[in-house]
Amino acid sequence: MSQMRFAKSFTQQEPLPEEAIEKAVEVMRSGRLHRYNTAGEELSEASLLEKEFAAYQGRKYCLACTSGGYAIHVALRSAGVLPGDAVLMNAYTLAPVPGAVYQCGAKPVLVEIDNHYHVDIEDLLAKAKASGAKYLLLSHMRGHIADMDKVLEACDQANLVLIEDCAHTMGASWNGRLSGNFGRVACFSTQTYKHINSGEGGLLLTDDPELAAQAILYSGSYMLFEHHGARPPSDVFDAWRLNIPNFSGRMDDLRAAILRPQLSQLDASRARWNALYREMEKGLREIPGIEIPQRSKLEDFVGSSIQFRIQGISKDAISDFLSKCASGGVALKWFGEDEPRGYTSRFDSWHYLDDQLDLPRTREILSNTFDMRLPLTFTPEDCEVLAAIIADSLESVRTRA
Ligand SMILES: *Cc1c(COP(=O)(O)O)cnc(C)c1O
Repeated sequence: MSQMRFAKSFTQQEPLPEEAIEKAVEVMRSGRLHRYNTAGEELSEASLLEKEFAAYQGRKYCLACTSGGYAIHVALRSAGVLPGDAVLMNAYTLAPVPGAVYQCGAKPVLVEIDNHYHVDIEDLLAKAKASGAKYLLLSHMRGHIADMDKVLEACDQANLVLIEDCAHTMGASWNGRLSGNFGRVACFSTQTYKHINSGEGGLLLTDDPELAAQAILYSGSYMLFEHHGARPPSDVFDAWRLNIPNFSGRMDDLRAAILRPQLSQLDASRARWNALYREMEKGLREIPGIEIPQRSKLEDFVGSSIQFRIQGISKDAISDFLSKCASGGVALKWFGEDEPRGYTSRFDSWHYLDDQLDLPRTREILSNTFDMRLPLTFTPEDCEVLAAIIADSLESVRTRA
């Protein structure tokens, strides 16, 4: 039998909604792409996006900026992180997260994860104590949301300010509360591979007026912060406006314009992503040796990617399995690989964090963790084909061994 082949690309997004394209053309025709290039009381696209996202989340203040990583950097600073401070973070995350901590001159303190890809609470408490950290930067990595009651309880106990990285959880919730509404401040990404797509972009969200004022000033608001859509009252800026350096990270109106129609489709997109996820999960569960983490009933996630583990497989067999999948057109990422590849890097490739690259549990969990994107250009039928190719590839590696 000739090998099945899947022909679609794992990095192919859907086109933007027509409404977004029309809006973009309108902004381009106007020539006014800068968020402060408005007339009178007119609100810019960036300001409208901020208002709409704050309303979606039910929070007060939002700042649109250049990237998710930028939003995290500015969130940390505005929450009070100073050079030399320790910042706790789960070790399973993406490279811009420790990068943002580093950019503050602060010290990332990596925390182990558990079998469900959540932060390990016991290790969190131990490292909070040992480091004296006052901040937890929590990534809901690949959309896995930990038991937030336990996280909040741990933050309470160890006196930690919670900063959420919601790059993979825009539109997701835990026990009825939207991700991003648990911490003092939350950061989202609108980079192409996330849940709404402007190429690059980030959103910062908070209910804290002092924090919001600082973040807006850091983003480079000149003395035009009163033009923002979801900002604290003007007098809150008084104490800060001459004391905050301008880090120039504003979002432009072109990107904001293409995000607004996508935001109104976010809940519909979540339903479509989850239909793909459920189909993929069903197919993978039937393959002997493959394990998919059980997700809590309280977690209403966005299944824009799926993670699974394979038990009892050697490194050599994993390489064979991956090339077999690749030749069938299935692009899997392996978090256990020693060499970082593309976007996928493990904490121990961040050598600038020299003294804490030793996290045996996280290493062990990632050693047989595979990751697959589920773009909305896939269909549930595609997921059946993908599962069949993965099953085949694993079977052929197993019978050869
Ligand atoms: C994508 C991502 C970010 C931030 O991404 P940007 O590319 O800077 O917008 C932060 N955290 C995680 C976990 C991510 O995947």
